[in-house]
Amino acid sequence: MTVTDPDAGSYDQQSMFVVPIETPGIETIRNVGMGYEPVGEGIEGYLRYHDVRVPADHMLGPRGGAFMVAQTRLGGGRIHHAMRTVGLARRIFDMLCERAVSRYTQGEVLANKQMVQEMVADSWMELEAYRLMVLHTAWKIDQLQDYKAVRGDISAIKAMMQKVLHDVTARALQVHGSLGVTHEMPFIHYLTESFVMGLADGPTEVHKVTVARQVLKNYKAADDNFPTTHLPKLRAAAEAKFADQLAGIPRD
Ligand SMILES: Cc1cc2nc3c(=O)[nH]c(=O)nc-3n(C[C@H](O)[C@H](O)[C@H](O)COP(=O)(O)OP(=O)(O)OC[C@H]3O[C@@H](n4cnc5c(N)ncnc54)[C@H](O)[C@@H]3O)c2cc1C
Repeated sequence: MTVTDPDAGSYDQQSMFVVPIETPGIETIRNVGMGYEPVGEGIEGYLRYHDVRVPADHMLGPRGGAFMVAQTRLGGGRIHHAMRTVGLARRIFDMLCERAVSRYTQGEVLANKQMVQEMVADSWMELEAYRLMVLHTAWKIDQLQDYKAVRGDISAIKAMMQKVLHDVTARALQVHGSLGVTHEMPFIHYLTESFVMGLADGPTEVHKVTVARQVLKNYKAADDNFPTTHLPKLRAAAEAKFADQLAGIPRD
């Protein structure tokens, strides 16, 4: 993505290009992995472009359309992250439950201890609510076929995914005791993944701002200093509306 039209409006200055990795001038400075991966490994990295040239037909979308191309990709990308988060969190939840019914300590299995039951219940409720919200958003995308109309819904499931994945994973780790923090179980990996889900395709905070803006569009300010639900105001309105019936009835 690069600036091709510096004098255009801020959303129309950049164009997107497909640049094959073998194109002369691309330098891979170094690969960067996630925190749990050995140094030097990983699929992210720093690239430098030295006078890279590609044919004009390598432009993706219209000239000056990079922002729109990126947003179109990101809408689908974000619900995809949400769907795979549901699947991953469900797998981790299954690990939590299996351990709860298997591990016997202090006279009973963990599943009989109320604080472990709370972990099971909280995880199930949060995951089920999230799953249905993701499903509903996917249904709205199919129905409306309009990215702008579902932007707030997509941001909402994007903003929630970090917490759902983090909290279910943290409980599953805890229920596994010290085994949970070792490299013999995948929980440290999945905890990192929960933070990735809170960053990739936009940080959680930015998506919450989008949700709030979309929601608040549907509200207008009260017409004076008091809320429309201010009781004296409601009472005055009711008295005005029913003045005929109230005539002659003693007040208070
Ligand atoms: C695994 C992975 C893959 C990625 N893949 C891609 C990719 O394919 N393409 C791509 O373009 N990018 C990709 N990203 C980048 C990702 O979109 C950015 O890392 C993310 O948008 C945050 O930007 P930043 O890292 O510059 O953090 P910053 O913008 O520096 O933000 C740092 C922190 O500041 C806070 N913050 C930032 N903005 C606000 C705000 N408006 N209000 C309140 N708080 C705020 C948040 O806590 C945020 O985490 C990827 C990231 C990861 C981790």
